[in-house]
Amino acid sequence: MKNIYDVAIVGAGPGGIATSCEAVLFGIKKIIVFEKGNNHSNTIRKYFKDNKPVDKDWKGIHVDLIGNINFEGGTKESTLDLFDDSLEKHLIEAKFNTEVSHVKRVDDHFEVVVTSGESYLSKNVVIAIGKMGKPNMPSYKIPLTLKKQINHTIIECKGNEDVLVVGGGDSACEYAYFICKDNNVTFNYRKEVITRAHPNNVDNLMKSAEEGKIELRMGVDIEKIEDENGKIKAYFTDGKIKLFDRAIYALGGVTPKEFLLNCSVQLDGEDNIILDEKNKNDKGLYVAGDIAGSIGGSIALALNHGYNIVTDLKEKLAV
Ligand SMILES: Cc1cc2nc3c(=O)[nH]c(=O)nc-3n(C[C@H](O)[C@H](O)[C@H](O)COP(=O)(O)OP(=O)(O)OC[C@H]3O[C@@H](n4cnc5c(N)ncnc54)[C@H](O)[C@@H]3O)c2cc1C
Repeated sequence: MKNIYDVAIVGAGPGGIATSCEAVLFGIKKIIVFEKGNNHSNTIRKYFKDNKPVDKDWKGIHVDLIGNINFEGGTKESTLDLFDDSLEKHLIEAKFNTEVSHVKRVDDHFEVVVTSGESYLSKNVVIAIGKMGKPNMPSYKIPLTLKKQINHTIIECKGNEDVLVVGGGDSACEYAYFICKDNNVTFNYRKEVITRAHPNNVDNLMKSAEEGKIELRMGVDIEKIEDENGKIKAYFTDGKIKLFDRAIYALGGVTPKEFLLNCSVQLDGEDNIILDEKNKNDKGLYVAGDIAGSIGGSIALALNHGYNIVTDLKEKLAV
């Protein structure tokens, strides 16, 4: 007879970490976490630059924490340390390098299947996969030959390159500001004014532009890109054409609809995830973190989702 977990958590970002730690604190015993990366918090490790200031009230949205993880903001490193401590202290069984492929409802429990083919049984499942697994792409075609130079983070930036940063949110501003010390950066946003980013990020961007470290191309879009002898040739809607070594598309992420459907998650007619006030999608099935919202989430919101879910699970499991 296979072991049946009380709760299986898919994704070890802030949403998954909070759910697992809160579950331990609420006395839930059989918990398993699946993480496709080789450590927790893949998104933070991959998309946050070193020493990045991490705001608790991200994008100016104030969040009162309701759970037990004391996140006050800080830096990338202090945030990862906090989550390291939380996971260690609560002795969570986490399976790293383990990607969940689908979740099947079987009678009154779930079968969680991972890409190696192994499966695990659980009474409840929490999907906390974030949105950065599938970054948004522009509508025009990207030549396959340029694939390596088209990125979504600044990890690949080597320095001394002509880099195009596309986007109008915090990630785009932060990326441009951070790499402009070592690269020639062009910042492109299709609107005239940035309204979606934190004022500090906009200030940093504008100051660097005034100092001549970043060329701003605002209020123009890109029509197409081509491969010109290994360089990215960008055609802007105002007629300007420019060559780049690298382009970083910081356009946020999309809800991976197919994955959600493979995980038995119910969507409404507009493909939004159906959720009640306890982040429950259906009996025994919950969704936490960025994936639970149609607009961008935050670390604090993801932590609250974890707490919220566990208050429901606690009643259900009568612990
Ligand atoms: C550049 C940037 C800067 C940001 N700055 C801030 C900030 O200052 N403050 C703030 O509050 N927020 C910030 N955010 C937003 C914040 O990172 C997210 O809101 C938060 O990480 C969401 O947590 P999550 O648990 O929902 O998802 P994620 O953090 O995305 O974690 C999801 C986890 O699930 C794993 N996973 C995905 N699919 C599978 C699968 N099939 N099987 C197993 N594991 C899987 C991933 O590897 C990942 O570890 C920023 C985001 C970006 C991109």
